[in-house]
Amino acid sequence: MLKEEIARLVRPNILRLTPYTTARDDYQGSGDSTKGNTAKSPASIRTFLDANENPFGNGWNRYPDPHQVLIRSRLAEIKGMPPANIFTANGSDEAIDLMFRIFCTPGQSNAVSIAPTYGMYSVAAAINDVEFREVPLREDFSLDADAVLQACDSGTRLVFLCSPNNPTGNALDRGEMLRIVRKAGCIVVVDEAYADFSSGGSLRSAVGEYSNLVVLQTLSKAWGMAALRLGIAYADSGIISLMERVKYPYNISRASQDAVMELLGQGVQTAGDDFRTGMEESDPAVERMRREVGMIIRQRDKLSGALGEMGFVQKVWPSDANFLLVKVNDADRLYGFLIGKNIIVRNRTRVSGCEGCLRITVGTAEENDALLKALDKFKDTSNQSE
Ligand SMILES: *Cc1c(COP(=O)(O)O)cnc(C)c1O
Repeated sequence: MLKEEIARLVRPNILRLTPYTTARDDYQGSGDSTKGNTAKSPASIRTFLDANENPFGNGWNRYPDPHQVLIRSRLAEIKGMPPANIFTANGSDEAIDLMFRIFCTPGQSNAVSIAPTYGMYSVAAAINDVEFREVPLREDFSLDADAVLQACDSGTRLVFLCSPNNPTGNALDRGEMLRIVRKAGCIVVVDEAYADFSSGGSLRSAVGEYSNLVVLQTLSKAWGMAALRLGIAYADSGIISLMERVKYPYNISRASQDAVMELLGQGVQTAGDDFRTGMEESDPAVERMRREVGMIIRQRDKLSGALGEMGFVQKVWPSDANFLLVKVNDADRLYGFLIGKNIIVRNRTRVSGCEGCLRITVGTAEENDALLKALDKFKDTSNQSE
């Protein structure tokens, strides 16, 4: 059931939409995902003459599960959330685009976000012909909730927050974010792509309390599955149903679904529908992720210290993510110099609020050493030029 306060935010044609039903929706399809059918059908169904597939098996001839039932129930277990509050997307970028397509009327609605932040929100807004209002973060990159609320008006359908924020690396204040959720009068999307690197925790458990809150996460960063394109949205079940109706029916390929399930593994046996715990310490997939995140955080702090010692580095911002924002004397020249050493970082110097800054992803110990060695050489060239 779509709650009244959400229904009035939905684009009218989407509210009226009769969604495409896939062939595999027509029956309550089967638990054998290797045959490409959904997790619900009786195992007795053996003859699939419903989807115009090529019947000769090559391992890939059947359509995949359009509802990603296995992944969603595994995520429910890991994240401690009911499957009805989980949407799986072709990367978080699909979920971002869906927000515009569901809630915004092109040429009429507007969306509000912070600056600087992740570039996809403004690109998705532009593609959907939606005005995009950017509210600058404070000097220290903290969130000015009052300024965000002031930028909202009766045409605002979406607010995008990103915590920890890309490219600044800091987590936003939880209380300030929730103040926006309570007062904005529209959908508030909190992008938590880097939450697993932060001690600040996640807002996903608050979606039960706030029907206008959408929390985005991804398997692309901490979970190490960027190539598989698996983004996650947590929201009120009414919003999840809207996302299900608007998405492409087979938005996640079976190659991707199978690989995700293999990497997430079986987990621990939990009793029935008990999703309250989440992130079990004894869950091997979670343990592996936590171990890697721990190594990345130790490398981040080491790298941050070493960068801070370099003469041409003006500032290294504190980071709650797996990257560092670093202000240097001549960002363009350093960026070019590193390319000459076969090291690529992200040049953010032309992003408003990030003048003079490079964004550096934390790599393995060897990769970070290679970076520091190259920077030592740059130090010599910058001394010579002075
Ligand atoms: C990397 C990143 C994502 C990830 O997007 P996917 O499409 O899931 O790979 C989302 N949001 C932010 C802020 C990011 O930095």
